[in-house]
Amino acid sequence: MRRKADMSKETFYDTHAHFEGTPAETVAVMERALAAGVERIVAVGGSAGLNAGALAAAEAYPEHVRLALGFDRDQAMAATPEVFVETLRHLAEEHAFAAVGETGLDFHYHPETAEAQGALFAAQLRLADEWGLPVVIHTREADGATLRVLDETPWRGQGLRGVVHCFTGNQEFAAQLLDRQLAISFSGIVTFRNADLLRASAAMVPDERLLIETDTPFLAPVPLRGQRNEPAFVAHVAACLATVRGTTPERIAEITRLNARRMFG
Ligand SMILES: [Zn+2]
Repeated sequence: MRRKADMSKETFYDTHAHFEGTPAETVAVMERALAAGVERIVAVGGSAGLNAGALAAAEAYPEHVRLALGFDRDQAMAATPEVFVETLRHLAEEHAFAAVGETGLDFHYHPETAEAQGALFAAQLRLADEWGLPVVIHTREADGATLRVLDETPWRGQGLRGVVHCFTGNQEFAAQLLDRQLAISFSGIVTFRNADLLRASAAMVPDERLLIETDTPFLAPVPLRGQRNEPAFVAHVAACLATVRGTTPERIAEITRLNARRMFG
């Protein structure tokens, strides 16, 4: 029989957090997360440093942390896609990946490296396909290019699976991603005062494709803006989505937890 105390406490799955602090800081962040009912977290890489931080979190909290390793768009000029893929293959010999990423395109900060970003993104999509893993996708001011890379990938396995994380797009882009079987994850940005268009996107994502995240250590949600973000704050994202979608925070916590478990384990 479940005790009342368990039933009254929501549990959350934060599908996107970066760990770049000292081991002691990671432990402190994780303990606060667990105390706040965040039972699972995807620790996400994207560079050598972020991959190392994600590995450290996963090793310290194997029951609670799932691992996504990859190389993101800001790394695209640092080496060839082949070198990055070799590095990931090497890491995969010793560590269980739940996903590849984050990886993707960002023409806001790095428009001049668009071609290299596309090549690195495509190479990791092929790797995820080969491994049968979902992909954690970053996309900013690159809607059309992102769809093009996804559509040009020669899928051989079970096809595209994954999530567009920290979604900031409009309803049209959300629909195009949903058409491609992707999930959409909302971060603290959805709580920002000027985010009405994003909230409209959040209202249209079907229950079974909805995920929540913090994108720790960035983008702390309202009312904690300006603080260093951490997984313990994910409840604010759930509460905002509940308002937008006309349901309860408990229900948002439940459906996003189930979706995340299906995708990441
Ligand atoms: Zn991220």
